[in-house]
Amino acid sequence: MTEAKALIFEMSNPGRRAYSLPESDVPDKEASEYLPEDMLRQTPADLPEVSELDLIRHYTELSRRNHGIDNGFYPLGSCTMKYNPKIHEDVARYLGFSNIHPYQPEESVQGALQLMYELQRDLAEITGMDRVTLQSAAGAQGEWTGLMMIKAYHESRGDTKRDKVIVPDSAHGTNPASATVAGFQAVTVKSNEEGLVSVASLKEAVGDDTAALMLTNPNTLGLFEREIKEIADIVHEAGGLIYYDGANANAILGQARPGDMGFDVVHLNLHKTFTTPHGGGGPGSGPVGVKDILAPFLPKPVVGKGSRGYYLDDDIPQSIGRIKAYHGNFGMLVRAYTYIRTMGPDGLRRVSEDAVLNANYLMKKLQPYFDVPYQQFCKHEFVLSGNRQKKLGVRTLDMAKRLLDFGVHPPTIYFPLIVDECMMIEPTETESKETLDRFVEGMIQIAREAEDCPEDVQEAPHHTMIKRLDEVTAARKPVLRWTKE
Ligand SMILES: *Cc1c(COP(=O)(O)O)cnc(C)c1O
Repeated sequence: MTEAKALIFEMSNPGRRAYSLPESDVPDKEASEYLPEDMLRQTPADLPEVSELDLIRHYTELSRRNHGIDNGFYPLGSCTMKYNPKIHEDVARYLGFSNIHPYQPEESVQGALQLMYELQRDLAEITGMDRVTLQSAAGAQGEWTGLMMIKAYHESRGDTKRDKVIVPDSAHGTNPASATVAGFQAVTVKSNEEGLVSVASLKEAVGDDTAALMLTNPNTLGLFEREIKEIADIVHEAGGLIYYDGANANAILGQARPGDMGFDVVHLNLHKTFTTPHGGGGPGSGPVGVKDILAPFLPKPVVGKGSRGYYLDDDIPQSIGRIKAYHGNFGMLVRAYTYIRTMGPDGLRRVSEDAVLNANYLMKKLQPYFDVPYQQFCKHEFVLSGNRQKKLGVRTLDMAKRLLDFGVHPPTIYFPLIVDECMMIEPTETESKETLDRFVEGMIQIAREAEDCPEDVQEAPHHTMIKRLDEVTAARKPVLRWTKE
């Protein structure tokens, strides 16, 4: 256990600096000469004044307190915290990729454009789509982009009354949110007792006002929608399109393609499935693939290939426009491209096989100790319910906190919303059997403690630097900046 260290503000010593710059040889200007009076700071900023070494030690110390995939197991369902191979970092730092500017002439950045062109092509192949845009910077932005293309498609056909997007109740929260932001009304359909979309409820919800259905398959319970062909037909026959939330494509890589299942548009999260780093707020990358019927509406530019090499193709007259500055988060594209090239088709197929194997292994091992609401064979993730433990006074939140004492990041909890006391676990393909076994041992110990000594779980964590936080106060009255008082 690390001792709490002084805050950097408490280390501050007036006049101490972490940098030294030569004397300025241009005339000094007062801020008031070029900023309006009411925008000027009235009191000093009160920034900490420390040496470079103190600064480095401070941030290094903070980084050590973090839990990340590089220092421990992180079985976060839906969000896929898998290992990000370090070779990506090498390649992303090649000067030809890291030292270029979006305004450079195309002939001077042919390598970067080729990478984007080939990534567009590879992602189209992987998803079974015809065209891909790499612009969007997150899964949620990819969803919004796909929905805006769907909207443009309906409008281009004079079909302007389609204002509803259907979303299953197991969907990721970004689905209804994106539908709303794109100007649609999100309509929820209930899952059946098997955890799948109820075809009967879908038939009731679908009509001539349906713009699209958004679906995650396998869904967030880790279950594959077996009726997907029928589901696609129902929506298509009503004139709607279907959207595949492929943020987490771990279960289907090399096995099944949204395009073949009948989907018209899909987004991928490179920062999940394609091992580019995430957590800590970004940067992300959420490419969107579309079938030919939506290609006229792609954001522009896309990267094309012509007789004079690779170029930025702006000639998309019905485009929904640009959705992101320049060309998306290019560094993420380099990492994902490196991943696809180093894995190859067989490697990508192995990803999904191992991801599914690992999830089923954990599910079977934990089944005697926890309620498993959907017992069928799962895909890359599965859900447990803490109902049995809740009857003993131990909530899923308590168990999640207790896991921290075992050096494990808790799984996703209380999501999807349709499972009580839900714990959603995704081991990913990158973990060894030994790590999975250690996790199982920890979970079994927690299940036993819930019976024998519930307070040990209720008061967890015990071995972390910060103990149980008051989450309500933290959410209602967040203190986000240091003040002297
Ligand atoms: C993570 C995730 C999203 C959203 O992706 P962001 O990059 O966080 O916007 C959407 N759907 C599913 C199923 C996800 O797991």
